[in-house]
Amino acid sequence: MKFGGTSVGDGACIARAAQIARDAAREFDVVVVVSAMGGVTNRLIAAAEQAESGNREQAGEVFAGLRKQHETALASLLPQAEKHSRVAAALDAIFREGERLCEGTALLRELTPRTRDAISSLGERLSAPMVSAAIGELGAATESVEATELIATDEFHGGAEPLMDRTRAHSESRLRPLLEKGAIPVVTGFIGATEEGVLTTLGRGGSDYSATILGAALNADEIIIWTDVEGVLSADPRLVPDARTIPEISYREAAELAYFGAKVLHPKTLRAVAHAGIPVWIRNSFAPEKLGTKITPQGLSNGGGVKALTAIRDVSLIAVGGPGIVGVPDVVGRTFSTTADVRANVLLISQSSSQNDICFIVASSDAKRTVDALRKEFARDVANEKVEHITLDPTIAIVAVVGENMRGIPGVAGRTFSALGRANVNIVAIAQGSSECNISFVVAEKDVKAALDATHREFGLSVQKASESPVTASHD
Ligand code: ASP
Ligand code: MG
Repeated sequence: MKFGGTSVGDGACIARAAQIARDAAREFDVVVVVSAMGGVTNRLIAAAEQAESGNREQAGEVFAGLRKQHETALASLLPQAEKHSRVAAALDAIFREGERLCEGTALLRELTPRTRDAISSLGERLSAPMVSAAIGELGAATESVEATELIATDEFHGGAEPLMDRTRAHSESRLRPLLEKGAIPVVTGFIGATEEGVLTTLGRGGSDYSATILGAALNADEIIIWTDVEGVLSADPRLVPDARTIPEISYREAAELAYFGAKVLHPKTLRAVAHAGIPVWIRNSFAPEKLGTKITPQGLSNGGGVKALTAIRDVSLIAVGGPGIVGVPDVVGRTFSTTADVRANVLLISQSSSQNDICFIVASSDAKRTVDALRKEFARDVANEKVEHITLDPTIAIVAVVGENMRGIPGVAGRTFSALGRANVNIVAIAQGSSECNISFVVAEKDVKAALDATHREFGLSVQKASESPVTASHD
C-alpha cells in the first residue's frame, strides 16, 4: 500500500492512513510505502536552491517551517510524552542532517545532483517514522524502514532506475522476516541507493514507482495506491460533470491515458509489475469504502471499446507546408531531426497524402524554440518557395479517445467524428496509431469541453455497463 502526499498531509490524514493499513493487515501481509507530506518535497528543493545561491537564511526558514509542520502532526498523533519524544528525536536527527547539507551547499555555492537527492529525499525519511508511529498507536507491530536498504539503483541521480535482482534479495531479507512476525513495515517512497550505498531518488512523483518496485520484488498479490481521487475517471470531471470512475482498465490503457496528460500513474510505474501481471489499484484514502480503479494486464472488455477521454491543453500546433513540399523526400526527415535537435517532444503527427502539409503537436513550452529552429533549417527552401509556410498555432488542444478494445471494432472513429459534427466542433487534425487503442484529434482550445461532452455522451461513458458489474475488491 502506498500513501501519497495528500493521504499523509497532516496528523488526521496520517491517522486515517494508519487505520487503513492496520485494517488490511488483519487479513493480509501489508507493506506500506509513504510519500513525503504534501508539498514538502517542493519546499525542500526550494531550500536546496536557496542554499545554492548562498541564501542561508531563506533555506533556514524553510527548515523552520518544515519542523513546525511535522511537529504539529506528530503532537496530534502521539499525545503520550515518552513515545512522542522518541520519534521527535529521530525526526530532529533527520532535520539536522538536512540543515547541514544546506549549510555545505551554501558554503560551496554548488548543488550537486547527489546533494539535491539527499535534500529532496528528507520528506519521505520524515514521514515514514511518523506513519509507523501512528500504526503503532493502533496496537500493531510496525517498523520504519529506509528504502536505501531495499531498492538498489543505478547512479542516475534525480531519476535512478532499480536493479531488480538485488532489490529482490534485499527486500526478501529485510522485509519478509518482518511480515512473517506480523509486523507492518513502513518504507520511505521515492528513494533508493547505489551499490556503494549513496542515496538516489527515482524522479519526482517516484513513490508510486517505489510501491510497484517493492510489490514486484516481494511478488505481491496486489498493489494499492492510496491517493485523493477515486481512481481513474472516464474524463476530467471539471469539464465533464458526469464523468465516473472506471472500475477496471488495462496497463496499456492506463499508460495511454498518462501519456495524454490524465492524472494516472507514470507508465514506468506499471512497467515494474507488467511482467508479473500484478494488479494495481488506485483508491481514495479519504473515501476508502469506494473501490476505485483496478489496473490489470487485460483490463475489462466492454461493448463499445472506448474507456476514457483525455485532453491536453498546453500544446501548440506547428505546420510546415506548401505545394512545393510535394515529392521532396527530405522534408519530413529534416523536420523531425530539427525537433529532436531542440529536444521538443512530439505528441502527435499528421500528414495528409497530398503531402501539402506536415503538422505536429508539441508542448507549448517547446513551441517557440521549435519554430525558430525550423525557420532556420528551412530558410533556403522558404526563399526559393519550396516551403511556403511554417506556422504556429497555440490556441489548440488534443483530445484523445482511449480504449484497448476499440481495436478491430469498426465505427468507433465514425461515431466519434459524427458526434463532434453534431456538436459543431471543427477538427483541425486527426491521428490514430496503428495500435488502435487511441484516436486523437486536434480541436480549437475553446471547443475542448464540447468535444469531451459529445464523445462522453456518444460512448455512454457515464453509464455503468452490465459487463462491468459486479466488481468486488478482495480488500474492502
Ligand atoms: N515526494 C516525492 C515528490 O513529491 C515523491 C512522491 O511524492 O511520489 O516528487
Ligand atoms: Mg506525489
